[in-house]
Amino acid sequence: MAQINENYLKLPGSYLFSEIARRVNEFKVQNPDADIIRLGIGDVTRPLAPVVVEAMKQAVEEMGRAETFRGYGPEQGYDFLIEKIIANDYAPRGVQLGMDEVFVSDGAKSDTANFQEIFGVDNIMAVTDPVYPVYVDSNVMAGRTGNYDTEKGQYGRIIYLPCTEEGDMKPELPTAPVDMIYLCFPNNPTGMTLTKEELKVWVDYARENKAIILFDSAYEAFIREEGVPRSIYEVEGAREVAVEFRSFSKTAGFTGTRCAYTVVPKDIMIYDFKGEGHSLNKLWLRRQTTKFNGVSYPVQAGAAAVYTEEGKKQIQATIDYYMENARIIREGLQEAGFKVFGGVNAPYIWMKTPGTMGSWEFFDKLMTEAYVVGTPGAGFGANGEGFFRLTAFGTRENTEKAIERIKARMK
Ligand code: PLP
Repeated sequence: MAQINENYLKLPGSYLFSEIARRVNEFKVQNPDADIIRLGIGDVTRPLAPVVVEAMKQAVEEMGRAETFRGYGPEQGYDFLIEKIIANDYAPRGVQLGMDEVFVSDGAKSDTANFQEIFGVDNIMAVTDPVYPVYVDSNVMAGRTGNYDTEKGQYGRIIYLPCTEEGDMKPELPTAPVDMIYLCFPNNPTGMTLTKEELKVWVDYARENKAIILFDSAYEAFIREEGVPRSIYEVEGAREVAVEFRSFSKTAGFTGTRCAYTVVPKDIMIYDFKGEGHSLNKLWLRRQTTKFNGVSYPVQAGAAAVYTEEGKKQIQATIDYYMENARIIREGLQEAGFKVFGGVNAPYIWMKTPGTMGSWEFFDKLMTEAYVVGTPGAGFGANGEGFFRLTAFGTRENTEKAIERIKARMK
């Protein structure tokens, strides 16, 4: 008899987006003429940059000729891409990385979900609350957590780090010892960032406690303000304790094309039961070479084109487009009297629902009165209750229309 991994039964199901879809569909049946604007999903709407498309086309042509055909590539990515990542994303910020410290992959989702495999099941993990759900769910599947407490909206054996209005959406150090710490800045869903000094507190904690930080900087390209660190390695000592996840998804519109990378410095040690240190980099290499066969050549060629002069300009134009949407949303909501977070260095705007209104109640009100769909904060964790996420990834026209409607109808 085939038996299930019982940990999967702890997962309450992907309630959030299916429940949103259900409510939207029901509303559409009753109001077929309502022109609904979706500012809920975290997917991009602008096409790939022309230089990326050209590089991909050329790479496909090469694959069709015997002299230039390529089969399996290196599991950790082609050197031509890794060299460009190091030279453009790290060296200018004073971060030196070795070629074998960067692992190209098909997504930050898979990497952030898979990375926990290297850690023992008894490790205690910490996550911010609210949080991108992948970190939690992947650890639930691995058996590192307790059961889900429906009332609390939290799992046992996870240390939740509340990000609250009073704390300006920034987490505080855990009061109980933890071994794995997931941090994501610029943050999804709150859109907030940490300063270098604030990030240093976490790096120092990890060094003192032999903990490891899993730092997701998928939204680094959206940072506009000077002084906000784009990489955790800008913080002294981070090379000893932090893994960094990056993605071309939001930076360059690769959500449907799939390319990302993860940095695992060789200085990071992880310990066996005798207290002996092992190289985390070597273990991730072992894991990837066993379970992953690399990203396709045309996709890596397209990702490399992002780093050409033309590519950088084209990508920046798209990021500027989204960040102008973010400004329109942020300022529009403020003018309408809402308290908002984020939207300055991130494509997410995290708004407080009025009074004591719950996230789902606000979802219904926004949909039925303004015909705008967003994401209820409660879907990102217990501390997301009373908040609501809007994204800047829509078209300009829809973004402007949505904000006009909110201003006119949500008084
Ligand atoms: N990390 C965060 C914080 C995200 O919000 C997302 C996507 O929404 C991802 C990772 C996934 O990135 P990718 O498309 O590279 O899998």
